[in-house]
Amino acid sequence: MKIKKTYAFAFITSVLFTLLTVGGFSFLLYFKYTIVIDLEVTLYSTVIVFFMFFIVLQKRVEQFIYKRVLKIYEEVSLLDINNLSRTNVTPDIESLSKEMQKFAEDKQLEIESLNERETYRREFLGNISHELKTPLFTVQGYILTLIEGAAEDKDIRDRYLERANIGVERLTSIVKDLDMISKLETNDLNLNIQPFNCLEMIQNIFDLFDMKIKKKNMTLRFDKLYEFPIFVMGDAAKIKQVLINLIVNSIKYGKIGGIIMVSIGSTRGNKIAIKVKDNGEGIKKENIGRIFERFYRVDKSRSRDQGGSGLGLSIVKHIIEAHKQTITLESEYGKGSEFTFTLKRA
Ligand code: ADP
Repeated sequence: MKIKKTYAFAFITSVLFTLLTVGGFSFLLYFKYTIVIDLEVTLYSTVIVFFMFFIVLQKRVEQFIYKRVLKIYEEVSLLDINNLSRTNVTPDIESLSKEMQKFAEDKQLEIESLNERETYRREFLGNISHELKTPLFTVQGYILTLIEGAAEDKDIRDRYLERANIGVERLTSIVKDLDMISKLETNDLNLNIQPFNCLEMIQNIFDLFDMKIKKKNMTLRFDKLYEFPIFVMGDAAKIKQVLINLIVNSIKYGKIGGIIMVSIGSTRGNKIAIKVKDNGEGIKKENIGRIFERFYRVDKSRSRDQGGSGLGLSIVKHIIEAHKQTITLESEYGKGSEFTFTLKRA
C-alpha cells in the first residue's frame, strides 16, 4: 500500500524532533545535574515523545493541507467539491493537480475553438457581403442609367432591364443558397425520405440541361443503357438538388465538346453509388481537400463569371451527410473530375 506522503513527512520530522528533544534533555540533565538516565527510561521516553510528535504533526499537516485545498475547490467553481474527502487529503492533492491540468487543457481547447469560430464568422460575413455586392451594384448601375434618361430609348431600356433582371436572378440564387446552407447547418432540414427511381430523376435532369449542353457542344449521358428502374431511399427534391449542382459544375468547368457521364453502380455495403464524371479542367491535388468548404473556389473570378456562389458543393455535402451517406471526389488536374455519392438502396 502506498504510504501517504504526509505520514512520511510526519515520520521523518518526528524522528528529528525526538532525537533533538531526548538528546537535548539528556545532555542538559547530565551537565547540569550529572544525572545519567538509564537506557530503559531513555527508550520509553523516546518512543512516547516520538508518538506524541508524530500524531500531533500528522493531524496538523493534514488539517493545514485540507483547508488550503478546500479553498481552491471553493474558489474554482468548476472543480467538484464533493470529490474532496478529509481522510484522503494527500492523494486528493494529486487528483487536484490532475484536475487542474485537465481544467487548463480544456480551457485552452475552448479558447482555440472560440477563436476559430470567431475567424470563421468574420470570414463568413465578409464572403456574404462580397458575393451580394457584385450583382447588387450591377443592378443598381443599370437602374440608375435608366433613371437618368436611358429609358427613353426603347432598345436600350429593354436591354438594361434584361441585364438588371439577370442581376436580380443572381441575387435570388445566392440568397436561396444561403438559406439552404443555414437550414442545413442548423439541422432545420426536414428530410422526406421515400423510395424513388433515381434513373428517371437523372434522365429528367438531362432533359433540363439539354439547351446548356448543346450550347457548349457537350455530351451529357449515362455510361451505359440501364434497362430497369433503380430505386433508392432519400429526399427526392434534395437529391435532385445534389445532382443538379454536380452536373451544373461539370458543365461550368467542363471543356467545349466535352463529355459528362453519369453512372449508377452498387457498393460493397449494398448501397447505390452515383457517379458524375467529366473530362473538364479537373482540380489540383492541393485544392481537393477544400473544395467542399463554403465559398471555396479555385478560381474566384472565373467561378463568379459562370454564376457560381461557391456554395454549390458545400450544399451537396450537407445534403449527402444529412442522409448519413458519403461523397468522394477524384480528380486529375487537366483531365477531369469524378464525384461519387452513395444512397441507400430501396
Ligand atoms: P461554385 O459556385 O464556385 O461553382 P461550388 O461549391 O459548386 O462553387 O464549387 C467550388 C469550386 O470547386 C468551384 O469554384 C470550382 O473551382 C471547383 N469545381 C467544382 N466542380 C468542379 C468540376 N466538375 N471540375 C472542376 N472544378 C470543379
